[in-house]
Amino acid sequence: LGVAMSLTACGDDSSSGSGGGSGNEGGSEVGKVGVILPDTESSVRWESADRPALEAAFKAAGVEADIQNAGGDAERMTQIADTMIGDGVTVLAIVNLDSESGAAIQEKAKAAGVATIDYDRLTLGGTAEYYVSFDNTVVGELQGQGLADCLGDKDANIVYLNGSPTDNNATLFAEGAHSVLDAKTNYTVVGEQAVPDWDNEQAATIFQQLYTAADGKVDGVLAANDGLGGAAIGILEGNGQAGKVPVTGQDATVEGLQNVLAGTQCMTVYKSATQEAGALAEVAIALAKGEEADVTGTTVDSSDDSEVPSILLEPQSITKDNVKDVIDDGGQKAADVCTGDF
Ligand code: BGC
Repeated sequence: LGVAMSLTACGDDSSSGSGGGSGNEGGSEVGKVGVILPDTESSVRWESADRPALEAAFKAAGVEADIQNAGGDAERMTQIADTMIGDGVTVLAIVNLDSESGAAIQEKAKAAGVATIDYDRLTLGGTAEYYVSFDNTVVGELQGQGLADCLGDKDANIVYLNGSPTDNNATLFAEGAHSVLDAKTNYTVVGEQAVPDWDNEQAATIFQQLYTAADGKVDGVLAANDGLGGAAIGILEGNGQAGKVPVTGQDATVEGLQNVLAGTQCMTVYKSATQEAGALAEVAIALAKGEEADVTGTTVDSSDDSEVPSILLEPQSITKDNVKDVIDDGGQKAADVCTGDF
């Protein structure tokens, strides 16, 4: 069955639809919107999925957008923000590299009369008017449930490779995963570590250390995204264990989906960039017009218990059986994913 379904994912040519943004507001009263993405290394998503989706969403709305990438350097993000503010953007959206630098950027923007939005990552102690993201606790729950589904009822030793300690999302992913897995008395956590900056190379080193410390007795890996999962799979491969030890992921990247189809990765989490970018564009346009944006609720900033009006979208769990959903939604192209022998 699994094979038949994965053939479906890669077998027919229901090629990528590319969803555009919605809305056709005139740009003149909105002015220019600045968006700063965090890096190119922690996940391929920022440049491969978010940038094109953001470009499409703002274009569809007829709004000029300046989209830049800080390259993993918080000082660089600060400089880009300063330039954008000096340039007269009306709204500034950031994916912070850490809450401290993010909050400082938002403080400066505020002083200059520029409204700010947290895109994907909440800035703890920040002053953003809105937060646009997915429900990140649910992302972690899907990962925990996905791993449990792959492991079944047997006794299992689990290793956690968590995301960057400076990323509030990483905290939520780990909390969500623990809430599911800690309830299963047949599982034992034999190692858990956060990976600085989501760095994939460090993830491999860290996973090798945890694997060695556990005497190789690792039955499942809760990896917070596809890059960290790929690092763990590489080490497992070197030990003849790839495909035998389920590994989770997130972002439905080409590599992640290929690993899912190949059976070396148990699942990934799909978060539509079209949806997230579309929501950001809507909120940015409302802010620029001095209007209120439609939200799904509020998010509590754990640093000061303040509540940030939020749009939290719904993530989707992806296994071998529904890789095709990502392709049908335009999240990846079949031609990119289906290059192997799946
Ligand atoms: C995002 C994930 C991404 C990770 C590394 C998180 O904040 O929500 O989608 O994989 O950062 O960039």
